[in-house]
Amino acid sequence: MKRVYNFSAGPSMLPLEVLEKAQAELPNYKDSGMSVMELSHRSGLFTDIITEAENLLRDLMNIPENYKVLFVQGGASQQFAAVPLNLKKSGKADYVNTGSWSKKAMSEAKKFMEVNEIASSADENFTYIPKIEASMLTPDADYVHITTNNTIEGTAFRDIPDTGNIPLVADMSSNILSEEMDVTKFGVIYAGAQKNIGPAGLTVVIVREDLIGNATEHCPTMLDYQTHSESGSLYNTPPTYGVYMAKLVFEWVKELGGLKGIQARNEKKAGILYDYIAQSDFYASPVKEDSRSIMNIPFIIPGRDLDDEFVKEAQAEGLETLKGHRSVGGMRASIYNPMPVEGVEALISFMKKFEQKHQ
Ligand code: PMP
Repeated sequence: MKRVYNFSAGPSMLPLEVLEKAQAELPNYKDSGMSVMELSHRSGLFTDIITEAENLLRDLMNIPENYKVLFVQGGASQQFAAVPLNLKKSGKADYVNTGSWSKKAMSEAKKFMEVNEIASSADENFTYIPKIEASMLTPDADYVHITTNNTIEGTAFRDIPDTGNIPLVADMSSNILSEEMDVTKFGVIYAGAQKNIGPAGLTVVIVREDLIGNATEHCPTMLDYQTHSESGSLYNTPPTYGVYMAKLVFEWVKELGGLKGIQARNEKKAGILYDYIAQSDFYASPVKEDSRSIMNIPFIIPGRDLDDEFVKEAQAEGLETLKGHRSVGGMRASIYNPMPVEGVEALISFMKKFEQKHQ
């Protein structure tokens, strides 16, 4: 069977074990004579799947009792609007601008809120994470929004800012489940599933209970956290197969030692790649050392016009989707949870070979 190392930023690799389990269960799930795709979302079997998915996620992320886990649709992009519509009181919100996705979150919020861009790394092309001090915060802000991992720029918050009584909202789309994270520091965490959780179509929202039930008058029912909270994410038909796949991925993460285990594996993967780039005078990393993501690793070949050749030759060796985002250029290796260490080692051997050829 052909399998490649897929370095795509998302949708991206899924663990082979998960795909094989889904394959084995596909035509006849638990002797129901149906696939999970054909099960009613109100059936006992699906209730078990969604309950188990939630419990596994709670367990993995150590989510306290006073937080709800919602399985919704619309992607992280829909949360760009859902967050202000649910949290608006004073009508002011603080945003940290760390790149393309934060900018999108901010421009959506501007439709509903007075948005204060309290910090930005635009001055250095988003190659670092600005430091957030308490004095920067708007005292009566309804929330502070950060993008914990910047998928395109390859940066990540290594320290989560302390926002005191102001709820901290995080777009965690590209690093949820990749490392241990203290959920109690956040009011809302949201993430599209298609990187570390499962197939596209599912969005996970983790929200502190006191932030539910206060949506603005014109908030659409489907964007109101209360709707999904009081119905156990079954107000309407949830993305059932996505929830099932997420459950299988959560089981896989648990088997690898939970977030502690997966973090060690992710740090190892990112570490060997960054170390290789650092010792090479052919490749370079555009990202400041203290702001590096362990999920998305951009790299460049300075002063040479070799990007297209690199990407093409890598692909011929089963190393897929290494082209950098069009706004940044160069290459980008997205090495989410399912990417094995061997995949990163294969990339490094290819990089060595390519470097030797073009020295
Ligand atoms: N935020 C971040 C950090 C992302 O990486 C992405 C998707 N690449 C999005 C938001 C948008 O997610 P979606 O496509 O699920 O709306």
